Amino acid sequence: MRRKMAAGNWKMNGTAAALAELGALAEMLPDDAPDVVICPPAPLLYRACEIARPHGIGIGAQDCHAEDKGAFTGDISAPMIADTGARYVIVGHSERRDAHEETNSDVRAKARAAWAAGLTAILCIGESLEDREAANTLDIIAGQLSGSLPDDSTATNIVIAYEPIWAIGTGKVPTLEQIEEVHDFIRAKLISRFGDTIGDAIPLLYGGSVKPDNAATIFRAKNVDGALVGGASLKAADFAPIVAAL
Ligand code: PGA
Repeated sequence: MRRKMAAGNWKMNGTAAALAELGALAEMLPDDAPDVVICPPAPLLYRACEIARPHGIGIGAQDCHAEDKGAFTGDISAPMIADTGARYVIVGHSERRDAHEETNSDVRAKARAAWAAGLTAILCIGESLEDREAANTLDIIAGQLSGSLPDDSTATNIVIAYEPIWAIGTGKVPTLEQIEEVHDFIRAKLISRFGDTIGDAIPLLYGGSVKPDNAATIFRAKNVDGALVGGASLKAADFAPIVAAL
């Protein structure tokens, strides 16, 4: 049985007051909840870990530097993230690939740095609208997988999130067939690269406009093991029903 996971990416939203949502979320989660992870902005990581730990909610960062330390003003390293008590870090989100010009090899180095610090990397891949309209989706996904997914990936050190860029924050969601096509393709690539055991066990999340009212439908898709959720993870009242739909 593959691990199921609901991960929330708060992006650049929330100050300390927003951490009340973690307590509220804990109250709404069922006893048999799947893995639940919240990735708040970096200044909230310490406090988020303190609040979330007793409830079994995992905390993650939204990015890390590939180096452990050094003259990189404003950056945060994976050991620093681990030191807060966080156990996950998102790498290669399209907003970082785009606004910070991160390449596949940058993302691969970040995933490796995450593992070295004992973190699980949530690796994001996904095509642009232009790629999809040009029928290049699977080529783009294949390139991102071979370029940014390290060779020594295992089912415990990596989670892959398929996030079509055109679905992020837009309210547009691919059809179930489109989601299944990409997730089946990723699964097949993982199995051919890592073998049946690891390839079949790496969790695959879907991300892009997942909401309480569409989560159950999306989770019916084959090879969808959960979701990476942006906007609808900010409020416990929105995120809890998504977790419950898993
Ligand atoms: P969204 O964001 O759920 O707000 O579309 C998803 C993401 O960027 O991870």
